[in-house]
Amino acid sequence: GKRPTSPRSTASVQVVIRLRPLNDREKKHGTLPVVSASTADKSVTVIKGKGSHQARSSYGFDNVFTAFSSQEEVFDATLKPIIRDVMMGFESTVFAYGQTGTGKTHTMEGDLDNPEMQGVIPRSAKAIFEALKTPDYSHFSVSCSFLEIYNEELCDLLADPDSSGPKLDIMVGKNGPFCRGLSESPVESADDVFALMRRAQNQRQVGETNMNKQSSRSHCIFTLKIDAKRVLEDGSVLEVGGKLHCVDLAGSECAKSADLEKGNDSQAARERERKNINQSLLTLGRVVSMLKEQSQSKKKTNVRIPYRDSKLTRILQESLGGRCKTCLIATISPSVTAIEESMSTLNYAHAAN
Ligand code: ADP
Ligand code: MG
Repeated sequence: GKRPTSPRSTASVQVVIRLRPLNDREKKHGTLPVVSASTADKSVTVIKGKGSHQARSSYGFDNVFTAFSSQEEVFDATLKPIIRDVMMGFESTVFAYGQTGTGKTHTMEGDLDNPEMQGVIPRSAKAIFEALKTPDYSHFSVSCSFLEIYNEELCDLLADPDSSGPKLDIMVGKNGPFCRGLSESPVESADDVFALMRRAQNQRQVGETNMNKQSSRSHCIFTLKIDAKRVLEDGSVLEVGGKLHCVDLAGSECAKSADLEKGNDSQAARERERKNINQSLLTLGRVVSMLKEQSQSKKKTNVRIPYRDSKLTRILQESLGGRCKTCLIATISPSVTAIEESMSTLNYAHAAN
């Protein structure tokens, strides 16, 4: 359809931090919190060492969410303005980056059964269907897809588990790269979306047991595609096609070398996995930082953005940059035991910032 050309409301690339609270186990063990976050200052401070050897490092971001920030606050500040764009016919992508256990899935999906604890995907689905039900839209169709990238291999989380569906691969069509064979399930309500999310969660768990996968080592891309007829003020009708991608990334610690015993096959396979995760997270960081630089500079620069360096960025290429909005939510733990990983996540996010 035709693309609207209105100016956009918020920055095209946003990097934000979400600090999770200490969990019950950490509280019980008296774990020291060493990270503090301030929404007002949009900054995060890490305290290293003790007494006179104490060193503080502070980092500033586009937005910072503390241990007290609610799911609603995170949605309102990150996705809400993006949804407005998607409803005008733009593509947008939100990523959750961070160490396993810091709240990526909590931020993306949350608890589907508890409205207060729902993450950004269910809230986006609700907001999209609410908008579509207003007189601003005359017709619409919405579909979902759910793609898992494990060790640079593609897996359809919404495919019929009993039939071995088509093998997925990346093709280049007239609108750029896309994933051929990926199912697009039609949805008519937010509840339909929730049902598909539950199915995908089950699929992932089955894959985990049968194929010895670890979900922390894969990237998941959840996509909502909206085709609608938008009724303009003068009564004319504009066809819009918007897309929202929500990406729950592999645990950032999976990109680091662990002290593995050398020599056997499964260790070699692990090392290959690690390299793939490392490559895709590094590429994503580079792409986001280059897009941010581009969007902030007045001149049009002709730098080559390395989308092709990983399947993740290749598949999302048409939804990153240009008119598309991108939001990276980096999640961190407050605990002293996670300090190295938290610093690593802050450095990653800061480089992309
Ligand atoms: P990840 O997906 O990064 O591995 P999870 O989202 O599964 O991490 O979070 C791990 C645990 O911590 C879950 O039980 C989750 O509910 C809880 N949790 C994470 N972030 C928060 C938060 N901001 N507030 C409350 N609980 C959280
Ligand atoms: Mg998770």
